[in-house]
Amino acid sequence: MTLRLHNTLTGAKEDFVPLEEGNVRMYTCGPTVWNYAHIGNLRAFLFYDLVRRHLRVAGYRVTHVMNLTDIDDRILDQAMHAGTTIAEYVEPYVKAFFEDMTSLRAERAEQYPRATEHIKEMVEMISTLIEHQNAYIADGDVYFRIASFPRYGALSHLDRAGLKAGARVATDKYDKESVSDFALWKKSQPGDARLGAEWDAPFGPGRPGWHIECSAMSKRYLGDTLDIHAGGVDLTFPHHENEIAQSEAANHKLFTRVWLHSEFLSDATGEKMSKSAGGFTTLRDLVAAGHDPLAIRYFLIANAHYRSRVRLSPEALHSAAEQVRRLREFADRVHRTAPSSTDDAELARRTTDVRAAYREALDDDLNLPLGMGLVFDHIRDANAALDAGRVGPLNRSNLLALMEDVDAHLDVIHAEEPGLAAEVERLIAEREAARKAKDFARADRIREDLRARGIALEDSKDGVRWRRISA
Ligand SMILES: [Zn+2]
Repeated sequence: MTLRLHNTLTGAKEDFVPLEEGNVRMYTCGPTVWNYAHIGNLRAFLFYDLVRRHLRVAGYRVTHVMNLTDIDDRILDQAMHAGTTIAEYVEPYVKAFFEDMTSLRAERAEQYPRATEHIKEMVEMISTLIEHQNAYIADGDVYFRIASFPRYGALSHLDRAGLKAGARVATDKYDKESVSDFALWKKSQPGDARLGAEWDAPFGPGRPGWHIECSAMSKRYLGDTLDIHAGGVDLTFPHHENEIAQSEAANHKLFTRVWLHSEFLSDATGEKMSKSAGGFTTLRDLVAAGHDPLAIRYFLIANAHYRSRVRLSPEALHSAAEQVRRLREFADRVHRTAPSSTDDAELARRTTDVRAAYREALDDDLNLPLGMGLVFDHIRDANAALDAGRVGPLNRSNLLALMEDVDAHLDVIHAEEPGLAAEVERLIAEREAARKAKDFARADRIREDLRARGIALEDSKDGVRWRRISA
């Protein structure tokens, strides 16, 4: 089985082979911590999580770097209005980002470098670009000269015919219609120093543009050439195009071998959900409306292939919650079932086939929705076999192995609320103490309280065990 990934650069699915055997160097564009992360950004961040988890399933070690953009135009504006420094302004949003990632069960990347802590690396790269004449100073700002980089536009398959040489933009984002030399360094403005947003550089005091941080920090932590660079599809142009131009012009090496882009989340009208369009929906909004973070995780990674748009709706989240519940109940049922004396040979064969087909779906450009379809079909059959008492010891361990395969990507079956296990154990100990003291009313009350929270206690000869039940 070979892992195949759709590379935006070539527009084709390719066999994935990392540069260094067994180790994958992956860089992913992280959040701009000017506010809470939008649910559309979270889709991209969970896509990164799916990539890294499947790389590990495929047997690779993964070195994953995700940046935190803690300086940009919006952060400066907000910090100025709040009368604080940019460092103080972003801190609650950095914290909120990690909280969101934890409640959505995203694995931690190996590094989360912050832009403001890598100004030295950025200044060095800008100096190199000036030396190589790929960049020039204009009135204290430094711009990348697009005309000096003939491959510009290769990633987004941009037609260069309409490019106007010498047109310049200072903002971090610009329209595809007006491709322009972009800012690497912006000279300091009155007030920047007070906001903690001014640094010295050979080309004059100022602050970095947005694009240069990813080129400088990926080089620092992963070297000149990355195996995988991922981001939301909205970053393809200009951000990723600019990263390629900066890195390849400075390093004279191929920057990224495989580019992966995840699609938008759309709103009810099919439009891209975005902050600027007023469709601001955060994880916090959804949780406050009663949605389970694990259902949100399932919805974001398993409802649609990462290269398809997916529509966020309460119905879609309810159906994701239902899928999570079915997976958990099934895994729980298989765990609890005492196997029959003989195995069902047909069930054994089909479970093996489904495990292989699930893996194949993931190896084929991370097609988790296809894999889940196969798994749910099989769960129906396996439930029928359980009803009929036809599940033997081998059947049981195969089915549990299938659930482990699935949970390697989803991580929703065994996931518990943080601290839940410790709290349940504490209550079990309290109940035992109450029973020893012959306070059976109190012991029963603890059992009932736990049942109301979806936890069932079972007294066994090895002591008290607990498991989740559906509400
Ligand atoms: Zn980036």
